[in-house]
Amino acid sequence: MGHPVPIVLVTKDHKFELDEDALESILMQDHVKEHNVVIVSVAGAFRKGKSFLLDFFLRYMKSQGSNDWIGTDDAPLDGFSWRGGSERDTTGILIWSEVFLTDLPNGEKVAVLLMDTQGAFDSESTVRECATVFALSTMLSSVQIYNLSQNIQEDDLQHLQLFTEYGRLALADCGQKPFQKLQFLVRDWSFPYEADYGPDGGHKILERRLEISDRQHPELQSLRRHIKSCFTDISCFLMPHPGLNVATNPRFNGRLGDIESEFKKYLQVLVPGLLAPPNLVVKEISGQKVKAKELLQYFKSYIDIYKG
Ligand code: GDP
Ligand code: MG
Repeated sequence: MGHPVPIVLVTKDHKFELDEDALESILMQDHVKEHNVVIVSVAGAFRKGKSFLLDFFLRYMKSQGSNDWIGTDDAPLDGFSWRGGSERDTTGILIWSEVFLTDLPNGEKVAVLLMDTQGAFDSESTVRECATVFALSTMLSSVQIYNLSQNIQEDDLQHLQLFTEYGRLALADCGQKPFQKLQFLVRDWSFPYEADYGPDGGHKILERRLEISDRQHPELQSLRRHIKSCFTDISCFLMPHPGLNVATNPRFNGRLGDIESEFKKYLQVLVPGLLAPPNLVVKEISGQKVKAKELLQYFKSYIDIYKG
């Protein structure tokens, strides 16, 4: 069945700890350890539907991408724990226990791992803690999904700069872009007349937000240069609002029947766009593909950087 496994924990005195045994039990399984890995992470402010979204990723992976992967109208959504209310629910970094072996179009079998993160910028977390969780999840993943509410604002970009600077400093400079794919995901996009839902509208908005021009303050220019210099591939996707049941009904259990059809329509674009075999991004560190068994060592050394 699978369950979320806390891998990186933030202790009460704000220290970072790696649960090596838990991580080993996932990565060193005989059918997993020799394969190259794809690690998809979702990060961003808390209570913005990250875990909820990951549960659809799980459905897709479990159904091996079959056409009806999204499920039936009345099945409750389970997996990474998600919930209404304003209390946070997830601390640090979690990985789904089940590793999904998938064949790439070239015949290579890869191990796909899904990663959930602690919400950033809630009252209990310090800024350093948030930046560290974001930096670690960016360093450890091949695809980082930056989950945002409603729009890409200037302060979202500033946070991203802080987060990625943390990560970039931690990595030895190898003359290449340190990270792979960054996917901005805007939830509750409400200007479809300005830019369409989906990847095309996302592209339009992203171009506008990351544009560099002489008229901008030098700080805004360098912020944009920094972000572009960190990732090989940057894209953006605009998601419609899922409807009031999802956003506000305390009895909502994730059943599809209670979710707006527009939202489901774009889930059917977003999820395969990230997880269908031709779109999977194999994790590379300094230009080298990484096997599951090697990843363990990277987790250990990255955590050491932030133990302080
Ligand atoms: P997380 O803290 O980012 O992991 O957020 P959760 O996945 O736990 O979801 C928090 C709340 O947001 C739940 O009540 C969900 O039903 C709701 N939610 C999920 N997706 C969306 C969305 O796209 N828009 C809105 N407005 N609410 C959502
Ligand atoms: Mg969550």
